[in-house]
Amino acid sequence: MSEIVQVSEAARAMRDAGHDVIALSTGEPDFPTPPHVVEAAHRAAVNGDTNYTPTGGTAKLRATVAEGAGVEPANVVISTGAKQSIANAMLATLDPGDEVVMPVPFWTSYADIVRMAGGVPVLVDCPMEAGFRLTPAQLETAITSRTRWLMLNAPSNPSGAVYSAEDYAGLAEVLERHPHVWIMADEIYEHLSFVPFVSFRETVPGLRDRTLVINGVSKAYSMTGWRVGWGIGPAPLIKAMTAVQGQVTSGGSSISQAAAVAALTGDQSLLAERNAAMKARRDRVVAALDAMPGVSCLVPDGAFYAFPNIEGAIKAGGFDEDGVFCKALLEAEALALVPGRAFGMPGHLRLSFAYADALLDEGLARMGRFVAGLG
Ligand code: PLP
Repeated sequence: MSEIVQVSEAARAMRDAGHDVIALSTGEPDFPTPPHVVEAAHRAAVNGDTNYTPTGGTAKLRATVAEGAGVEPANVVISTGAKQSIANAMLATLDPGDEVVMPVPFWTSYADIVRMAGGVPVLVDCPMEAGFRLTPAQLETAITSRTRWLMLNAPSNPSGAVYSAEDYAGLAEVLERHPHVWIMADEIYEHLSFVPFVSFRETVPGLRDRTLVINGVSKAYSMTGWRVGWGIGPAPLIKAMTAVQGQVTSGGSSISQAAAVAALTGDQSLLAERNAAMKARRDRVVAALDAMPGVSCLVPDGAFYAFPNIEGAIKAGGFDEDGVFCKALLEAEALALVPGRAFGMPGHLRLSFAYADALLDEGLARMGRFVAGLG
């Protein structure tokens, strides 16, 4: 069970026991799925769009995604959430012992998926002082003859870090020297970037024949439960990923894919509105965290998570590590946050700010009280 799920379950148990728990721990926007998307799903169901779909996705959704990315439908596979595309890619390509380089902190599932597929995660520490970003020199050192993939994720879950075009150019220079290394660019938080978004595939066209972009509707359109995501990459890789998918799910839900088409082709103004709302929440949260003793927070440039360093607070409270800190915080203040160790970086915690202001304010007040009472 992932540590994020463990935190959620501990919070639920406390809530069931009658405590007024605030959980700022999950990775989904609190906005509703847009009404026109829900209507499209309803129409699809009523009109009998209820059969098995083509394994790689409905023609309409594949074409829509392909058009948006400037590629052919053969370069696109639709899956049951972005997560499945990541798993499909790893299952389709990794031989036992193959290495996958991932900057730390990383989304918890990356390492688990790689291990499930028989691979070995190679963790490269990218601390707060380095903006939570991988440098070309670190990448060079991490690559071996067994390296199969580099996994990038920007905006990042959990750090909110993004890469500039120059950052990507620096990494690309290293990758050009190592043609056996493929790049997975997870851009699921593309529309939740607070600085101009830079796509790896578009910025580094020379590496397109070994770049897989991961994206989907979950975060941008508040559609986490609809389970629609995709991979965009070279046709042979897409074919291999589709073959894996064919034996796992037979393809995504017909109704959800109709809904995703409506999301991608409908009014896009909601993206900017939701981005602005998240940015305001970010500012509110970062200011409050930074004011707490022993806590310091880099301003996240995207996604909806703050990932403060809490080493000072851990020390002040005499806790062994961030997991113990988060457990004590939950017990003392009924506030659920995820320890940094879940993302490979102890000494931090992740606070999701995809919640209403009142909830954020109350959560931050609880954390502030807890931290002020330490040591
Ligand atoms: N990639 C990252 C970085 C994520 O944070 C998440 C969800 O938390 C996903 C992928 C999975 O997205 P989906 O819900 O579409 O499977």
